[in-house]
Amino acid sequence: MNRFIKFCKKLGNKILDLIFPTNTKCIFCKDEIIDFDKTPYCEKCAKEAFNKGTKCSICDTQIKEGNVICDHCKSHRRNFIKCYCPLNYQADVRKSILSFKDSNAKYLAKSYAKIIFDYIKGDNITFDYITYVPSHKKKVKRRGYNPSQVLAEELSILFNKPCIESLLKITETQQQKNLSFDERAKNLENSMIVTNAKIIKGKTILLVDDVVTTCATIDQCAKLLSHFSCKIYASAIARNHLKANKKK
Ligand SMILES: [Zn+2]
Ligand SMILES: [Zn+2]
Repeated sequence: MNRFIKFCKKLGNKILDLIFPTNTKCIFCKDEIIDFDKTPYCEKCAKEAFNKGTKCSICDTQIKEGNVICDHCKSHRRNFIKCYCPLNYQADVRKSILSFKDSNAKYLAKSYAKIIFDYIKGDNITFDYITYVPSHKKKVKRRGYNPSQVLAEELSILFNKPCIESLLKITETQQQKNLSFDERAKNLENSMIVTNAKIIKGKTILLVDDVVTTCATIDQCAKLLSHFSCKIYASAIARNHLKANKKK
């Protein structure tokens, strides 16, 4: 029965694709574009969407020219080596990511993964596995998928590295967006456990999330994995820059 439902869903999505083709429009502003397979975004978005300029060498947030790391990374020791975020979480990028997370626009994962892959590959980092920020099973059931996992699976194909589960969300945490960094960290404490500990022990891992704001979530994940001597790189589609850094 389960397989039949899955088949019907797949068939439904295929029919929707035929009626409303998604691979002819900019993934951010939805304008028509000429060669989607080459670049899935328009020229206007190419200029505005990317996270450019002087950025913190640890968390990728934009900082004042001449600085190396942001004030936040200076005052909070991070449990990850570096977080890679190719896009700015604003305007059409934000809309696009929200539809990926909440409106079943799963197809966007492929394009996002390619953007992340191109952004990271210049740094020539090496790692053993790709993993993802876990989502509570109730949330996965509501959404139909965990966006970070879908993204990690696409990155696994591009990097040719296995994607494995390493963390499990055991309690649902409240909305993080209105909380301070310390409150976010506290909120996440004890909400996750490590799985596949034997496999990941001592390995270098690329941890995938969708959007990064204070880095509290990826930092907590990295902290848990570091108990098993893992070294963590992190990545997300976009960086929601902290206002405090913009002022300075
Ligand atoms: Zn566009
Ligand atoms: Zn930083």
